[in-house]
Amino acid sequence: MIIDCHGHYTTAPQELTTFRDAQIAALKDPVQTPSRESLKISDDQIRDSLEKAQLKLQRERGSDVTIFSPRASTMAHHVGTEATSLEWTQICNDLIERVVGLYPKNFVGVCQLPQSPGATLAGSVKELERCAKMGFIGANLNPDPSGGHWTAAPLTDKYWYPMYEKLCELDMPAMVHVSSSCNHNFHATGAHYINADTTAFMQLIQGDLFRDFPNLRLIIPHGGGAVPYHWGRYRGLAQDMKRPPLGEHVMKNVFFDTCVYHQPGIDLLLKVIDVKNILFGSEMVGAVRGIDPTTGQFYDDTKRYIDNSSLSDADKHSIFEGNAYRVYPRLKARLAA
Ligand SMILES: [Zn+2]
Repeated sequence: MIIDCHGHYTTAPQELTTFRDAQIAALKDPVQTPSRESLKISDDQIRDSLEKAQLKLQRERGSDVTIFSPRASTMAHHVGTEATSLEWTQICNDLIERVVGLYPKNFVGVCQLPQSPGATLAGSVKELERCAKMGFIGANLNPDPSGGHWTAAPLTDKYWYPMYEKLCELDMPAMVHVSSSCNHNFHATGAHYINADTTAFMQLIQGDLFRDFPNLRLIIPHGGGAVPYHWGRYRGLAQDMKRPPLGEHVMKNVFFDTCVYHQPGIDLLLKVIDVKNILFGSEMVGAVRGIDPTTGQFYDDTKRYIDNSSLSDADKHSIFEGNAYRVYPRLKARLAA
């Protein structure tokens, strides 16, 4: 079984975008506020949106199941109020639930959270509980709900603890995943995403989060940002700061995915980071959609890079399947259901 831990519903029907546009327009003109009931998407529209994209690519590339969440770039927690975010989040999560209902063998849900700059995490904790009841197996946690201005406390701050307590209680991991950037210095997927991955890792070195939450599991996507490439820097900084070695301090609880879009990058990731900390992911259909002219293959066909690596079959199996069951304990039951 090949489990892709990182996929978003980037191909949702246009009606979803139309609703969101109306919701945003209504922030200035409440008369335009769309009702939830006005958003109508049929099962056939959902099937059509997936058959041509994610399901087609699963078949072509040979993955079996995708751990699937709402489109990350449109979470846009910085838009509107906490109430705006809650309504939008519930709509997006309910749509993922419908996807999973239509294709229970191909998709398992991970939820978006109704975060909002300055708001407490109480609403997010509640939404996580609601989604757990629907069978979701994890959450995407945005370390920067301000969308590129980093106004929130670091991930190791007590501000985040209610979310970590609930994640541990539900035995769910979180993927640390930012959304779109409203800071024009940071391109969303090219800079903001990779910055956030790297920033989150450094925050974890500086703090003592896993002393307080020894069972908490965080996935840092996009191959861990710049971390594997600069592994010596992070080891050295931890040492200078009198922190324990990274293997004890952070890497019992942190996992990187394989959303790195070329063979040399994957080879470096596999060489530097322990196999037990790596989960197969592609983020298709997502950030980079084209074909690499030097290989003739899609950049985001990351299974190919793992297949072509020099890892043993047992190690490849850990990355493709085994590690996912450890990080997402609820996954096995979902697949057997
Ligand atoms: Zn993503």
